[in-house]
Amino acid sequence: MKGRLLNAYAICPAYAYFKFHFPEQATPSMEMGKELDVREVVEKYVNTRCNRLYSVRLRGKLGSGVADAVILCSNSLEVIEVKLSDGFRRPQLVQAAFYCLLAEDTFNKTCTRLWLCSPNRCVKKKFTASLRQSVIGMVESLANDLKSLPKARKNSYCSYCKYSSMCPWAKD
Ligand code: SF4
Repeated sequence: MKGRLLNAYAICPAYAYFKFHFPEQATPSMEMGKELDVREVVEKYVNTRCNRLYSVRLRGKLGSGVADAVILCSNSLEVIEVKLSDGFRRPQLVQAAFYCLLAEDTFNKTCTRLWLCSPNRCVKKKFTASLRQSVIGMVESLANDLKSLPKARKNSYCSYCKYSSMCPWAKD
């Protein structure tokens, strides 16, 4: 499983299904996101005495992905995701939490915290047991919902969704 797919699933289950079966071309905002200076943002807002690693390839029992940054301490780690805008919502939280799980497998350390950053600020969240369980549950249900188009409801993302013309739920 990939983190971006989980992010899409948190927006809308049908959106994740379409994204998986009909991958989107990169949009201008995706291209701009690639140009973000992650190191500059992290070094400005995240103080730590531990090692900071950037663009970290992760592989674990639940899938694989690339975290923007990981803070590696002697007995624990933290994951950092950097986005263009600072309207941090559940999809970004879920993606960062998924990377926490992958990072635990990759480095054999416990993830204690995750950070959501933009060029304007960073917010930190504890990687709680309930967040851990919620993300594991989402990965399981996502795997199932990729087999056939899941039910969804018209939602606030529909007007931006690239798949609205083929989506039966956009017309509800
Ligand atoms: S159009 Fe709306 S309901 Fe359909 S996939 Fe996109 S976000 Fe989901």
